[in-house]
Amino acid sequence: MKRKGNPPNILPPKCIGCKLCVEVCPSFVLEMRGDKASVVRGAWCIGCGHCGAVCPVEAVLHEATSYDKMMLPEPCSTLSPESLQLLIRERRSVRIYGREEVSEESLQKILDAGRYAPTGTNSQNVNYIVLRSPDQIEELRKRTTRFYEKIFSWVRSGIGRFLLTIMASRKLV
Ligand code: SF4
Ligand code: SF4
Repeated sequence: MKRKGNPPNILPPKCIGCKLCVEVCPSFVLEMRGDKASVVRGAWCIGCGHCGAVCPVEAVLHEATSYDKMMLPEPCSTLSPESLQLLIRERRSVRIYGREEVSEESLQKILDAGRYAPTGTNSQNVNYIVLRSPDQIEELRKRTTRFYEKIFSWVRSGIGRFLLTIMASRKLV
């Protein structure tokens, strides 16, 4: 499977210097050079296409972002295989968040959509906890960090490595 990607081409005459592509790039491929975005670490590109997806002026040319293919065919009352393929291809990971609160209505829609994810015998036996206050989110971040620190220190210990080796070899049998 393809993992690495070719870096994008930035079209300087079109670039308005908004920095959005630099901010969303997860691999630090892009930086601002003066008031234009520029590819500075092309070999690090993972080909996710986020840069092209956020550019408001179509100044990023990338194989994963083809602007002329980003419009779904109209009318789109049913989902054709081509539309589904395009939706899957244009899916993006969000790593930078704004400060605006997500509305109750949007949250309800997101949770309701998640309900349709496959569950055994369609039990839909999944619960969600929605944290909305910045303090709660910060508390979760701290607890998650502590949890993984504990896991890592356990794995680094001799007994942890020993047990992991046993567990891994059992899985392979
Ligand atoms: S395709 Fe992804 S990794 Fe490559 S430059 Fe664009 S945002 Fe960065
Ligand atoms: S997102 Fe587009 S306009 Fe903004 S800096 Fe990057 S290339 Fe330039």
